[in-house]
This record gives sequence, C-alpha cells and structure tokens, in this order.
Amino acid sequence: MLGEAAEGWRRADLDVGLRGLGRAVQAVAAVLLMVDPRDLGLVSQVRSPHNQSPTVYLYEAVPGGVGLSERLFERHDELMAGAAELIAGCGCESGCPACTGPRLEPDVDAKALALRLLRALVADSCPAGAAPGAAA
Ligand SMILES: [Zn+2]
Repeated sequence: MLGEAAEGWRRADLDVGLRGLGRAVQAVAAVLLMVDPRDLGLVSQVRSPHNQSPTVYLYEAVPGGVGLSERLFERHDELMAGAAELIAGCGCESGCPACTGPRLEPDVDAKALALRLLRALVADSCPAGAAPGAAA
C-alpha cells in the first residue's frame, strides 16, 4: 500500500505509475528469487478495496504459495532499489516492455511516473509491493 507516497497524484498518472512500478518490481523479484516471473502474480489498484489506498499486489501464482512472499518481504528494500535501478537504467525513452511493461498509453511517460512513485516510496520507507500472504 502506498499511502502518502501517492498523495496529490492524478488518478490516470497513478494508474500508469503503479502498473509500471509493479512490472519492474515483478521482474526484479523474479531475479532475486530465481523464479520465472510468471510464478509471481501482479495486480495494481489505484484504490484497493482492502485498504482504500493505491496498492500493488505481488503474490505467488502457486495456490497456497511456497514461501516466496516471505522471502520477498524480507528483501523489500532491495526489491524497491532494484526496481528503481531497472527503470532508470533502461535505455528506453518513456517505458517499454523491458522495464515498465507494454505501453498502453503511448503519450504517457510511464518511466517517469513509475520512478517518481518509487522514489516517493523509498523516501517514505513504507512497505509495499511484497505483502506476505497476499492472495489473488
Ligand atoms: Zn524501458
């Protein structure tokens, strides 16, 4: 859950930023855990029905899980830093399938939005992205 990090955002920007952030976090998580990215499910919601806040859910695709979420939760800071590095270090202009995922809105700078969101999150050091036990 992003809480204050997402305050003052336009809904459309937040949606793009959340999805871009989620994709990068998913890619980095797969590397950290040495699993296939498809083993990790991803859902981003501008307003989650669970906490009424912008939220990125990263969950284990295997029913019941095999402990990946716990391992990710422990490496939360590394995960967030890795995601920021992935996006910032990508050679694209404003988001691509390798960093923020396929572009759905060609005129929107998904890269800048996701990075802005990530930096706000790191500054807040508010846990997000890897919630242990989060289910589909
Ligand atoms: Zn890119």
